[in-house]
Amino acid sequence: MKADWSRRADENIGALLLDAPAIRKRVHELGDQITGDYRGRNPHLIAILKGACIFHADLVRAIDLSLSMDFIAVGSYGNAARTSGEVRLLKDLDESVEGRDVLLVEDILDTGLTVHYILQNLGSRGPRSLKVVTLLNKPSHRQVDVPVDYVGFEIPDHFVVGYGLDFKQRYRNLPEIRILSREALGG
Ligand code: 5GP
Repeated sequence: MKADWSRRADENIGALLLDAPAIRKRVHELGDQITGDYRGRNPHLIAILKGACIFHADLVRAIDLSLSMDFIAVGSYGNAARTSGEVRLLKDLDESVEGRDVLLVEDILDTGLTVHYILQNLGSRGPRSLKVVTLLNKPSHRQVDVPVDYVGFEIPDHFVVGYGLDFKQRYRNLPEIRILSREALGG
């Protein structure tokens, strides 16, 4: 028998938290809600790289409006599972946000430091409106209060991977979200 080199070959990834159909359903609900809230406007959806790229790609297709997209990247984590508290801009936006209805798209809110930093940064550039959508919200480690307008799922305090979320740059291509096992975290 041939060896299995697929993404599922690592059986120790961890327990399933959200399967692909549950994520798809919720993303479509968020898309419908955003479509209703932004009717008559052209929202500008900014994904925070890299983690939010898959959520962003699915969300924009669930929004029935003429919209535009951009990408921003910030760093602080390196390969560690917890934030150092320091956030720095790695890739800036390509376009100006002045006068636009900006919707910041995040994968997961943990301490809140990343979104807090980006909201302050973008807020000073004169957008017409500035809102936040996050797929996952992990409120147990919040260090700063962040206004969140749309939340996909509230989740307990676990380190999760899949659907864009990584551990040491792996597991982003899992179609579901899993709680990373102790074995995988340590190994
Ligand atoms: P915050 O600045 O809110 O603490 O963290 C936001 C960022 O931390 C996320 O964009 C993500 O990159 C990372 N992060 C926080 N919790 C998790 C988690 O459970 N799994 C993964 N893969 N990344 C996380």
